[in-house]
Amino acid sequence: MSDADLLRSLGVDPFQLDPAPPGAPRQSAGAERLDGNHPCVGCGQPARATGVVTVPGSGRR
Ligand SMILES: [Zn+2]
Repeated sequence: MSDADLLRSLGVDPFQLDPAPPGAPRQSAGAERLDGNHPCVGCGQPARATGVVTVPGSGRR
């Protein structure tokens, strides 16, 4: 299952995700996004974890 398929199975549109920070490798954590200002795409609460995924046709998110 691709990252995009996994996201869709969780009800997340991968094209709605923010672009990954430049240079962040796949599946790396984005700690700079955990400052309380980045909402969870599932519930809207401040995100507690992030990761970089590859979305075909849309690059890294
Ligand atoms: Zn959530």
